[in-house]
Parts: sequence; structure tokens; C-alpha cells
Amino acid sequence: MNKFTPVFAASLLAFGLAACDSGGSDTDNIDYNEYVQGADGKADSLFPAAPVCEFADFKDLEDSSRLDPLVDRSRTYNEKSRLRVTQARQIYLANVQLGFMDHGDDFNMVWDNTDDDEFLIHRIEIDDERYDWLQFWAGDTEIGVIYRYGTLDIVAEIGDGDFKTCESDTRQASANLDATAWVQTAAEYQANSKMTYRVATMMLDQAIEDTSWTATVDQGPNFENKPPAIILDLDETVIDNSPFQARLIADQVGYHSSRWNSWVNEANCSAVPGAVEFLRAADAKGVEIFYVSNRSSSLEEATRRNLEKLDLPINDSIDTVLLKNEEDGWGSDKTPRRERVAETHRIIMLFGDNLGDFVGGAKTGVEERNALEAANDENWGVKWFMLPNPMYGYWEGALYDHEFGVGEELKVLLKTENLNTKR
Ligand SMILES: [Mg+2]
Repeated sequence: MNKFTPVFAASLLAFGLAACDSGGSDTDNIDYNEYVQGADGKADSLFPAAPVCEFADFKDLEDSSRLDPLVDRSRTYNEKSRLRVTQARQIYLANVQLGFMDHGDDFNMVWDNTDDDEFLIHRIEIDDERYDWLQFWAGDTEIGVIYRYGTLDIVAEIGDGDFKTCESDTRQASANLDATAWVQTAAEYQANSKMTYRVATMMLDQAIEDTSWTATVDQGPNFENKPPAIILDLDETVIDNSPFQARLIADQVGYHSSRWNSWVNEANCSAVPGAVEFLRAADAKGVEIFYVSNRSSSLEEATRRNLEKLDLPINDSIDTVLLKNEEDGWGSDKTPRRERVAETHRIIMLFGDNLGDFVGGAKTGVEERNALEAANDENWGVKWFMLPNPMYGYWEGALYDHEFGVGEELKVLLKTENLNTKR
């Protein structure tokens, strides 16, 4: 049963027509023909099998009162040379999804399936989430498919008084093979992590004894008589989630919170090389150890279980595992949690795999992040200790405005654009 469709579909349709910009611009499009002529020239190699949308029960999108779409950009496409690769794939997949063609059919067929050789792609925003709404007409039928922004992940289908949402799972794993293989197999990774923790161990006595020593601008005044503490991030700093990345690669799927949660609930992370020895040494010297992680607070029990399994020091008498959203104002920026620790302790060292584990303002662009790193030059290897994480992080998000939902093709293009060939 379709509870709301007439009103909703009509308003969306009207909205789409009003928002349509038939002009468009070519400036950020790539030459789609390069991709058409790639591989063996067959459509199937360009559009590897992706599971199609399985329409399920109505979801949030059905609620028209919450659906206040904001169109950022709308474009009309009537020639394939103007399409981005992801857009071409969206159009192709929509035709397959809606039964106009079969998987493996030639891409050129998609234009034959429209009544005016024209596809409209609207970028819409609903509840702060961005979507690509693909719209076209086949005969008298209005077709609409809504994708998660920049992906092949269909979330809804709209057409002539009919609206359905669905759960689909077509996002592919990121090109993370080299990075994950390095973390899991390279002796060089082991050596690098041990080296970092060993340098920290060598700095401990000086940091404890010098009461003017603090590792953070978030410390505030009058800290000299407070007991010493260290703050460590967890993932890829103290514990190793590379098997989770390996599973995404093996299963050819992308990150999804349900997959992450089930991995975390296994509580089966190993320790990062060198972390256990360092933490026991710090604990033995009376340093309080705080774990400040952006794992969701709903994962605290499993996280603690994992830390206990690894026999890592955890204070039972105060809360030293401070997770994201555990308290109001504790978002992904860790500054408020550093400030909380600083109320009672002198923070002598920080550990992380992400610039945000050390200082605010790290979820920014490449230049801003590098300037922030350089501005803190004197802290590295003395008060701040960085573990290597080539698999993910703000460093990667910086290349695409931290829009992790953009498609893999776009990510690859943006990463490539950021390479320096010195030519
Ligand atoms: Mg981390």
C-alpha cells in the first residue's frame, strides 16, 4: 500500500520541474568516452554486477513533512560526453533496476529508453543527507531513482504517483588493498609502531618530573600540581582494526555502520605493536591513562571488553574510556574531551593516528592540515606521538571535503588530482 504517494510524488515532480536547469555547465565533467573505450569495450566490464535495489518497507523518506528537498544543483544531460563516470553508472543502473534493459546491455541503449533523449540529475538534500535524484521520461511514464550522493546506492524510486524506498547495498570497498596489506604484513609497519611507542617510553620520566610540562593547548591554567595523564586514541593507535578493512575488501563491500558495529562487538582487535608494553610502563609509573575514541558510546561495553582481553590498563574507579556522544557536546572533535581530562590532570602526552587526536581544526583541507602539523612541529616525538594509518582518516577526507559518501570513481579522480609529479 502506498500511503502518501499522490501528494508526495506530485510535489516532488513539480519541484523537480521547477528546479531543473537545462543549461548546466561542462566545467567539472570528465570525458566519459575514455571510460566507454576502456577494458574490453563491453558494457559489462564497465558496469560490474551490482546488487539491485530490493524494495522494502517505507522508511523515513516517505514522511513528506520531513522532506524539504533543497536542490543545490540540477543538470540536464543529453549527451554522454558530459557525464561523470558515476552519473553514467547511475543512469545505467536505473535502466536495469527499472527493467528497461538487462545487465550487460550496451550503454548506448539508455538513451533509446527515454522519450526525449534527456536525463535530469538533481542534487537534493534531505535531513542533511545529500542525494542524486535521477529523473527521466519513458513514453508517458515519469521515472525517478534516488541515489545516495555520488554513489550507486539506490534509496528510493519515484514514478507517476508511486514512491518506494529501499535498502540497497551497492557501495564497493575503497581502493584500500595496498594500505591494508601493508598494515597486516609489512615488517616495516611493526617497526614503525614500536619505534613510536619506544620513543614515548624514553620521554616518560622527563614528562612526569617536569611539572610545567603539558602536551596540549587545551590544558588551561594551574595544572602544575595535577597528577599526570596521557590520552590515547583507540582505533589504529592502541588497537588494530585492519581485519575489518580486510573483510570489506574480501567481501567487496563498502563501509557501513552495521558492519563496523558487528566487528566491534566481536571485541577481537589485536594491539598495535608496542602499545601494550608502553601502557604498562606508563601505568607502573603512576600515569593515568585515558582512552579518547570516536567509537560510538553505544559500543563502550564491547570496547572495554576488547581492552580487557588485551590486558591493557583501565582504571576501575574513574571513567577513562571517553567515547563520542557519551556526553552532550562530545562530537567528533575531541577538544571537549581533552578539556575534561585537563580539569583533573596534567596531560603529558597525546597519541593518535589522526591529527584530530592532537588538536582541533584537523577536519579541514590539505593545506590547512599541513599548516596545523607544521605549527606544532616541536611536539612530535616529544609530547605528541603519531601512529601510521594509511587505510583511512581525515587525511583522506581532506581530498574530497570529508564527503565520504562520494563514489569511488570520484575519490580516485580527486586523489589522482592531488598527486605531485613535479613535472
Ligand atoms: Mg584512530
